[in-house]
This record gives sequence, C-alpha cells and structure tokens, in this order.
Amino acid sequence: MAAIFSIRRNDPEDDKISISDTGTHVLLTVLVLAGSALAETDSQRRLIVWLSEHAAETDSENAGFSISEMPWDPAAFEADKQFLVRTADAASQKTGWQTLNFWPNARALMPMLGWFRKSFVRFRAADIEPDALTRWLAEMEPDDPVLNGFPRCKKHRAFLTWKGCAVCSNAR
Ligand SMILES: [Zn+2]
Repeated sequence: MAAIFSIRRNDPEDDKISISDTGTHVLLTVLVLAGSALAETDSQRRLIVWLSEHAAETDSENAGFSISEMPWDPAAFEADKQFLVRTADAASQKTGWQTLNFWPNARALMPMLGWFRKSFVRFRAADIEPDALTRWLAEMEPDDPVLNGFPRCKKHRAFLTWKGCAVCSNAR
C-alpha cells in the first residue's frame, strides 16, 4: 500500500507522488516536528495539526492528501505558504529529530521533502478548496486541541490532535 499526494485533487497522475506506508508516516512526522517548532500564528498551528491528523492515520489511503484540501486561511495565505516552505526546509535540516527514539532515513526522505517544498512553492491561493477550513472546524468536538489553545506533547513539543501526539504514535 502507498499514499498518494498531489497539489490539487484533479492533477495529472504524473504530477502526483506515491509514498510507502512507512515513508508516509516518517515524512509527516518530521514535517509535524519542524512545523510545531516554527508555527507563530493560529492559522499556521492549524495547518500543522491537520498534517498531524494525517500522520496518525494507520491506513495509507487516508494518510495521502492534496495540498488544496488543507485548512488554508485565505487571509493569511502568502505568509502561511512561506511558513510551510520553511517547515519543509527545517525538516530537511532534521529539526526535532533528536526527540525521536529512531533516526529517520534522511537519504530516502530528502526527495519527498523536496517534492513537498516545490509543491508548497507552486501552490496558489486559487487552488484552495473554499470550504476546507470551515468544514474541518465545524466537524470538531468542543474539546478538540485546535479549539483549546493548541496544547503540545511534552516529549516531542508537537501539537496534539484529538487522537493525541502523532509523533508518539508513529515512534515505534
Ligand atoms: Zn509525542
């Protein structure tokens, strides 16, 4: 099984990237670690929690996504896009890896992080799925961490999701 990632849902197959189950979990884990260290605004914290929800998926079909599905806030688009580019760079520089109880395979990860960096750069405000943010927020329970000040895992400093810390659950 593999997870499929794309910029937009209807992109040609050649523009999509397919990543193995293990690779997907490690990739999303390192993006969550880096993004949790860099996020400065609630819209940036929300994007990382959303990635973290996908990082915790055990089924790769649910872990894959299009960047257009992320809960972008159109009002903060340019700043948040640059934030995700910096997050991909920070993940490439192994930000937060010292908190892991395993050492990711950097050589295998770099092409995947490169794909994400390039795709965040290419992503345009017009690509945002208009109801992605409001629908995601509307589906939350009142005790969701996103609605309660973005608490973090004490061990990894990663933002928690309603399922807990994705880094804890992926650190096997
Ligand atoms: Zn943790």
